[in-house]
Amino acid sequence: MIDCIFTLDYEIYGNGTGVLKDLVYDPAERLRSIFRNWNAQFVAFVEVAELEKIEAWGTDSAIDLVKRQIRDLHEEGCEIGLHLHPQWCNANYDNGRWALDVSEYNLCTLPRPRIAQIIQRSLDYLRYALNQSSFTPLSFRAGNWLFQPTRTAASVLGESGIKIDSSVFKGGVQHNHGLDYRHASKNGYYWRFTSDVNHADATGPWIEVPIYTEMVPFWRMPTSRRMRFGNKFGLVNQCARQKVNRLRDFVRCRYPMKLDFCRMTLKELTCMMDGVIREDREDPASYRPVVAIGHTKDLNNPQTVDGFLSFLRAKGLSISTFVRSYPRLLQSENGTTERACVLLGKRERRRELTR
Ligand SMILES: [Zn+2]
Repeated sequence: MIDCIFTLDYEIYGNGTGVLKDLVYDPAERLRSIFRNWNAQFVAFVEVAELEKIEAWGTDSAIDLVKRQIRDLHEEGCEIGLHLHPQWCNANYDNGRWALDVSEYNLCTLPRPRIAQIIQRSLDYLRYALNQSSFTPLSFRAGNWLFQPTRTAASVLGESGIKIDSSVFKGGVQHNHGLDYRHASKNGYYWRFTSDVNHADATGPWIEVPIYTEMVPFWRMPTSRRMRFGNKFGLVNQCARQKVNRLRDFVRCRYPMKLDFCRMTLKELTCMMDGVIREDREDPASYRPVVAIGHTKDLNNPQTVDGFLSFLRAKGLSISTFVRSYPRLLQSENGTTERACVLLGKRERRRELTR
């Protein structure tokens, strides 16, 4: 059984450039209208740290529109998840530009008291924006997908009531930040974990539902990604060691391609889903939550999303959120994850043979 979970990272650019109306509010409105037409909901991963700073410094008049939109999305049944780019937490605004604190880029490498402080502050802001003092998000996505080293951050988030993470993209590597999700490739469509998000632990308090990826040769990466690769590997403003590390990320035979509804073409999206549908036919008893990702700042082709939703509906697949899938994630854990895992392994081997 397949549930498609659309997740939208709701944010401006990670270096502080861009304005809320163009990069967040307008694209989210377009997406909201498309989903409303299909009577479907998505998960908005609201990057809270930037919104708090933007409001505190009064740098963007669209902040009130954005808060209203978050409340409306929540009321309409969309899920509000917590997304955090902690480099914003000590940000200063000077001469019309944001100066972010890159020493706090990865939440997971900060001392526990600082992690707790950042999370508490973020939850407080989210509750204020939603005007609901008891609100606690069910799901979390780390900024730049950095959820390693996992133990301390997961423990603090868990104490705050958050139960699902969706930061992992199987096969992902970022040498500059010590991110390595290659080990997670052998896991199923979701798994429990405790101290390392890469390692399934049936007794763990957390559930990882990773962003769906496929390992593909370079030429199959989405066009937008290839262009960034061609554009100096995104190496502007990096020191020599960072450049070497970034190049190491790319020196591989195959790359993890995320199911990205803002960057992939309709054909790429439907081809990837066709693979999951074929697997599901072989083993319909296993539960397959398939997480798609998009960013408000990347939504250039809303008609692609409309076409993709039409495809999913025509195939009879349900469009869900983590909140709605949660009972099933808890219920269908025994054995099904392992079966899905075996099939995933078979699929990878089949691909090797046909290549
Ligand atoms: Zn983000």
